[in-house]
Amino acid sequence: MCRHLAYVGPPIPLSRLLFEPPHSLSHQSWAPRDMRGGGTINADGFGVGWHTADGPVRYRRAGPLWSDPDLPALARSVRSGGALAAVRSATVGMPVTPFAAAPFNEGPWFFSHNGVVAGWPASVEKAAAALPLNDLLTLDAPTDSALLWALVRDQLRRGSGLFEAVAGTVASVAASAPGSRLNLLLTDGTTVVASTVGHALSVLADEHSVLVSSEPLDADPSWRPVPDGTILVAEPGSLKQIPLSDSQPARA
Ligand code: GLN
Repeated sequence: MCRHLAYVGPPIPLSRLLFEPPHSLSHQSWAPRDMRGGGTINADGFGVGWHTADGPVRYRRAGPLWSDPDLPALARSVRSGGALAAVRSATVGMPVTPFAAAPFNEGPWFFSHNGVVAGWPASVEKAAAALPLNDLLTLDAPTDSALLWALVRDQLRRGSGLFEAVAGTVASVAASAPGSRLNLLLTDGTTVVASTVGHALSVLADEHSVLVSSEPLDADPSWRPVPDGTILVAEPGSLKQIPLSDSQPARA
């Protein structure tokens, strides 16, 4: 169900993420290796967001990534040092529109969700009700992923860091909707924060760059799987894996 990736490092053409590697995001859209929880291909939309000197740019479509005739040339010609891209396998009952495809975006933040909120939407009614009404009326789409983004964004707007926004949202949704699959991915172009709850995730990192992806893009032996139940905080030269159980301040 859905595949996503985020990159931070020296500027590279987007095609190095989307098309060129043997198991690029495009390849993962029709031949994913580790789908869990239903779904076989990721053909219900895609999106890519990247940082530029003029600010963040996003491109989303409702169809399969592999069938966009213009994207390969576009991706070869656009270089960025910060990007997040996703391909979507819509959860049954959720609409297929470009607005339901990740990345969701505000300011420097790009966000994606791989998974499903169990018991949607009743299970998260209380969490949703705590959001400003305007946030609910302007959700990108009536999907679990768009609501998760609204919850993360609400914390970011209140000044939380990326780690706090992801860890806080995962903890509250996992508590109110047990059994949910909550692989969230968030970047501001400098740091990548990701959670693993029920889906695969791997990371390839060194002093200069970080690449986080649902599935490794190639056979490089430096790819490392991220264990389930983790919040990953990654920057070039710094990789932290915090068990979800340790990510919340202890309550008396
Ligand atoms: N539930 C989300 C949606 O329908 C994400 C689906 C997924 O991870 N496949 O958009």
